[in-house]
Amino acid sequence: MTATGIERKLDELGRVVLPKELRNTMHLATGTPMRIYVEGNRIILEKGSHACAICGDTQNVKEINGKEVCQNCITAIKEQG
Ligand SMILES: [Zn+2]
Repeated sequence: MTATGIERKLDELGRVVLPKELRNTMHLATGTPMRIYVEGNRIILEKGSHACAICGDTQNVKEINGKEVCQNCITAIKEQG
């Protein structure tokens, strides 16, 4: 486990913001499904499977070089080239 030393407060709806740097490092785009586990007094967040590393979409996701990317982003990247 990596300690980030970051402390965030829950808001009134029970939300906590994951720092942008952490989201970037972990490829957590907006819409990425997150699984929540409880282990003793720890709450563990795990990136849901089959979510696009670029846009977070969960439809038509393929694994490319160890990263999951959706067909829409694959097409968009091809069009850039
Ligand atoms: Zn995508």
